[in-house]
Amino acid sequence: MKFVVTSRGDETSNKLQQRIKRYLLDFGLTFDFEEPDIVITVGGDGTLLHAFHRYNHRLEETAFVGIHTGHLGFYADWVPDEVEKLVTHIAKTPYQIVEYPLLEVVIRHADESKSERHLALNECTVKSLEGSLVSNVEIKGDVFEVFRGDGLCISTPSGSTAYNKALGGAILHPSLASIQIAEMASINNRVYRTIGSPLVLPQHHTCLLKPQNKVDLQVTIDHFTLTDKQIKSIQCRVAEEKIRFARFRPFPFWKRVKDSFIGG
Ligand code: NAD
Repeated sequence: MKFVVTSRGDETSNKLQQRIKRYLLDFGLTFDFEEPDIVITVGGDGTLLHAFHRYNHRLEETAFVGIHTGHLGFYADWVPDEVEKLVTHIAKTPYQIVEYPLLEVVIRHADESKSERHLALNECTVKSLEGSLVSNVEIKGDVFEVFRGDGLCISTPSGSTAYNKALGGAILHPSLASIQIAEMASINNRVYRTIGSPLVLPQHHTCLLKPQNKVDLQVTIDHFTLTDKQIKSIQCRVAEEKIRFARFRPFPFWKRVKDSFIGG
């Protein structure tokens, strides 16, 4: 089996990264930076997000597992003390795969040839860099509302515990192949009206954002940011692709939610 170990880059994570690499090489596994079967990340959720984007061209062949060297992560749910147990599992036992849905984002520019497709593990956000964002929100081909406010966040179920949660969105179980649209400070008065509640769309229901004012937009996909004035539309839906996590022990989603947000 071919593996890679990525690190957040701090000293603790780098040391653990080297230890895991040595263990797995001793077990006879092959280090392969380009085409790993398993990607082990050491750091936090951000480290796993980076690794997802590094290897998202080969999701069907790659499984991910995350170790956290800081606080408990949603994707990084193994602790450094468990590393020996984890590497033995990786080397010796066939692992179970758990698949989580992803968000597909297609950004169309005034110049059609510059259209781009992205996959997000957490979310896509759209904001205006100056003043309010004014955007038509189409759902399944029909105009649903004209949004005016700070911005919109379209998240995956596993991303629902990240930015979406801070916006008052619901936490969705990742077995629900869906996307969630959450508002950022919408303006609601006698002139402007939005639904005000987060919306959950099932597979095959597309959400199309068509910005109406000619302002510079800031679009984020997980941790990275794109800035462009010439965006015609942003189309979001559940992606065909899924992320595959290697599971070596049960750690139910709701337990992770409880441990992260409620505690003991
Ligand atoms: P970061 O260093 O700013 O960390 C953001 C925090 O979000 C970390 O504590 C991380 O553990 C947590 N996080 C990431 N994914 C999560 C998930 N799926 N569920 C629960 N918590 C999660 O940035 P980063 O580590 O590069 O992560 C990027 C993410 O930060 C974005 O995808 C976005 O979800 C989140 N973010 C949140 C807010 C907010 O809550 N107001 C604002 C901006 C970005």
